[in-house]
Amino acid sequence: MNSLRQWWLLPVDYGWNVAYARSQRALHVTRVLIGIWCWLYGVAAAIALTIPALADGRLGSWPLWFTVVTTVPMGLAWVIGGWPRWEMSIAFVVYADVVLAVVLLTTEEPSTVLPMAALFTVVGSYVVGFHGPKLFTAHHVFALVTTAALYASALVGGPQQRLQANLYLVMLILVMFSAPLICHTFLMLLRRDATGAFYDPLTGMQNRRGFDAAIGNLEFRSGSCDSVTAVVIDIDNFKAVNDRYGHEHGDSVIRTTAARILEIFPAPAVTVRLGGEEFAVVCVNGLDAVIEKSELLRIRLCNSTDRSPLTASFGIAEAVVEMRTIEDDISDLLSRADKAMYQAKRLGGDRVAHHVNESLSIRAVDERQ
Ligand code: GH3
Ligand code: MG
Ligand code: MG
Repeated sequence: MNSLRQWWLLPVDYGWNVAYARSQRALHVTRVLIGIWCWLYGVAAAIALTIPALADGRLGSWPLWFTVVTTVPMGLAWVIGGWPRWEMSIAFVVYADVVLAVVLLTTEEPSTVLPMAALFTVVGSYVVGFHGPKLFTAHHVFALVTTAALYASALVGGPQQRLQANLYLVMLILVMFSAPLICHTFLMLLRRDATGAFYDPLTGMQNRRGFDAAIGNLEFRSGSCDSVTAVVIDIDNFKAVNDRYGHEHGDSVIRTTAARILEIFPAPAVTVRLGGEEFAVVCVNGLDAVIEKSELLRIRLCNSTDRSPLTASFGIAEAVVEMRTIEDDISDLLSRADKAMYQAKRLGGDRVAHHVNESLSIRAVDERQ
């Protein structure tokens, strides 16, 4: 009972699942496959329309025609559109489940179409891949109720049809509930552990792996490209803090720094501990706003009431980034911000510098005025 409760309460982050699939370059191929599956549903409905016993249901041939007509744009949206947001993904599951249930329940041949209830497993596999226990349960309860109603209609036939319906029902239970339940449970547990591998245990901030997955979820203000700003932050003379106050105190300084960065640059800005005492922030705010926030953070970091007041150097760069090439664009942006950060350090640290343009000229912020 306790493990059932734990399973029900397992945290699900649809955005994380999508970001992970994107970071593994599996999202595009998944989209194309789902689009093809939609079209195959349409093909199956079109074939059913040519079989008189199936084409004339209690609502005429409308449910089958509806399936043929709607699966065409639906498949197209998957193949050429972007990945759906959470609400659209739920709407897709509801659409697929309801259309299938209407087609099955309005037939005049329940014993013939009963095995086709196995098609619920296709939608079920999408739910397993991207959603959590709650939608998994809702989908399976809906599939079970539909199958039970279809089975009850099939029992109305002769003894031979009743025996066949019993056989189909047992097969359906096996197909619809055995493998999906096992896959879903193990995937959820693996996901819970994998999420940990994306965060730095000392600060709770994302590590480089988590950052690489998260940048695919950067919310562009419009379209498939946007102006993105990156900040690289490196604590000055951090080695001296460790040497003077000990490693444990050094750890707490890194934790405090991370907390202050997250305070000034909250989500949807993407933050990362790049390693040691080096951090980065990527966001779609304009350059001036980011310079202003970085200045604020610089002042907040050298808090004189801290046991070991510290200073940090900031490097900023801005570029137009395309969703299609986001990994390469962001990596290029970070290396420019890194150059600016080293320039800030060369100028004595405790300052914000920004990469002005492609000619690599770097300006410290206090020299701009
Ligand atoms: P600079 O001003 O040039 O950045 O000098 P720095 O001393 O800050 O940088 P340097 O790269 O020379 O040293 C970084 C130090 O950070 C060395 C390493 O021992 C320490 N460090 C790296 N990771 C951790 C950590 O997780 N905890 C602690 N306490 N220290 C760390
Ligand atoms: Mg340093
Ligand atoms: Mg460093």
